Amino acid sequence: MPGLMQPWPLTLDRFLEHAGRWHGSTEVVSRSNEGPVTRCGYADIHRRARQLSRALLEHGIALEDRVATLAFNSARHLEAWYGIMGIGAVCHTLNPRLPVGQLAYIVNHAADRVLLADVLCAPIVRELSSHCPGIERVVLFADEAQLPAGVAATAYESWIAGRSTDCPWGGFSEETAAGLCYTSGTTGDQKGVLYSHRSNFLHGLCSLMPDVLGFSRRDVVLAIVPMFHANAWGLAFAAPAVGAKFVLPGAKLDGASLFELMETEGVTFSAGVPTVWQGLLQFLEREQLRPTTLKRIVSGGAAAPEALIRAYQEKYGIEVRHGWGMTEMSPIGTVNAPPDLATPTTEQGRAIFGVDLRLTDDEGAEVPQDGRTPGHLNVRGAAVACAYFRREADGILDAGGWFDTGDIATIDGSGMLRITDRAKDVIKSGGEWISSIDIENAAAAHPKAALAAVVGMPHPKWGERPLLIVQLKVGQSSTAQEFLDFLEGRIARWWMPEAVQFVASIPLGATGKIDKKQLRAALTRPA
Ligand code: AMP
Repeated sequence: MPGLMQPWPLTLDRFLEHAGRWHGSTEVVSRSNEGPVTRCGYADIHRRARQLSRALLEHGIALEDRVATLAFNSARHLEAWYGIMGIGAVCHTLNPRLPVGQLAYIVNHAADRVLLADVLCAPIVRELSSHCPGIERVVLFADEAQLPAGVAATAYESWIAGRSTDCPWGGFSEETAAGLCYTSGTTGDQKGVLYSHRSNFLHGLCSLMPDVLGFSRRDVVLAIVPMFHANAWGLAFAAPAVGAKFVLPGAKLDGASLFELMETEGVTFSAGVPTVWQGLLQFLEREQLRPTTLKRIVSGGAAAPEALIRAYQEKYGIEVRHGWGMTEMSPIGTVNAPPDLATPTTEQGRAIFGVDLRLTDDEGAEVPQDGRTPGHLNVRGAAVACAYFRREADGILDAGGWFDTGDIATIDGSGMLRITDRAKDVIKSGGEWISSIDIENAAAAHPKAALAAVVGMPHPKWGERPLLIVQLKVGQSSTAQEFLDFLEGRIARWWMPEAVQFVASIPLGATGKIDKKQLRAALTRPA
């Protein structure tokens, strides 16, 4: 027997409809890649997003068609998300840091019809266009005067100008696809995660719970995590849902640029990957500055070292929430809200509502949640992928509906999750697993370390041993012994790195995380 409630499909247009109507004058602040800061209200974003919808409809974009964006975080990119999704088309976010060959592959695989891009990305667009014949129109986030020469593109401002805001939004099934994001991989191996309106809607609401992101209308939210990285962790839905002032930083994510934006806009909440937080911290230390309004940050996407959490909490009184998730999970899986600022915990936290976790051994049998026994981390939930786009026949769930994340973790009796490694990064020494993350965390606490990474190196007796790679802070020098002495007592004896190597810079991947694949390749390449 159906309940007697109004049919109200959970479609994503509702977030911006709500913000436009009830928080219309709340500011959306955007720093363009070219430098200047622009500001408008949610009502303006709403109006312009609908004008974009009209332009897309008049171009012939229909339900389920893919429209790609190749852009950093900005108000126009936000309008594009809603303008595309509002009419039931699929917003395919492209990461401008990916090699052009990989971008071309996924644009063609997704059959994107229209591409909306930043002017900064025009050189990529130029290259892409010749490899992607399916793209019918390129629109650059610019006015006529800003259009660069040599790219066959329409100016976004002219395209939407003067168009009616009267267009149908929503009115389709909440199961309709809304967003598409390919996970990283070598060309041809990238997998498309296809979010639905319903999954993003529910994830957006769950992310707002007090122990998850937990921000409100009284917060000023700075979205550092790019809109092309796993749904910007849901921020572009959560901020309009509560009517929080929303700050979008463009492409400049260095410490100085972020600090300036935080201070001038009064940012209280932000989210990004650990390397971004390291960069800001080093800037604050070097310049002897303190954030004056920032209260809480979320660090996710890679393990946050204890030294990093400690510095923000103890030195600046800023709460660090350590989150774990993945593109396939929309992306948040767990969040660790620390009990107080004096207690830095490096665990990744507890499952958020809507996510179920379990650990299994190599044969798929469940292992105990005793905080000691590592296992393969499996997940299921309303915002977890059940298949990859155009690979629907390749099952990715087991008989019980579980998805194997590819991460190795422990869970303790209170439900606290600790990621020990990516399965493919695990170091197996004498048949036992060594956690590269734990060694990295310990080494990153060395005052001279800017970044630390640990990979396995082949060993004749033990099979593999850990190799520590360190990028020192600017102007510092050190020795292997200094780091080994520092690790003494901080990690198990038998985890002690076999060698320490100093490099000028540790390579970062397209989403700003340490790229171990590239690191390994560089280490095995003859000098
Ligand atoms: P992506 O889909 O690119 O966001 O990558 C997801 C992967 O990043 C996860 O499967 C983990 O291996 C890793 N990851 C994300 N958050 C964390 C975290 N807090 N600690 C350790 N690894 C993480």
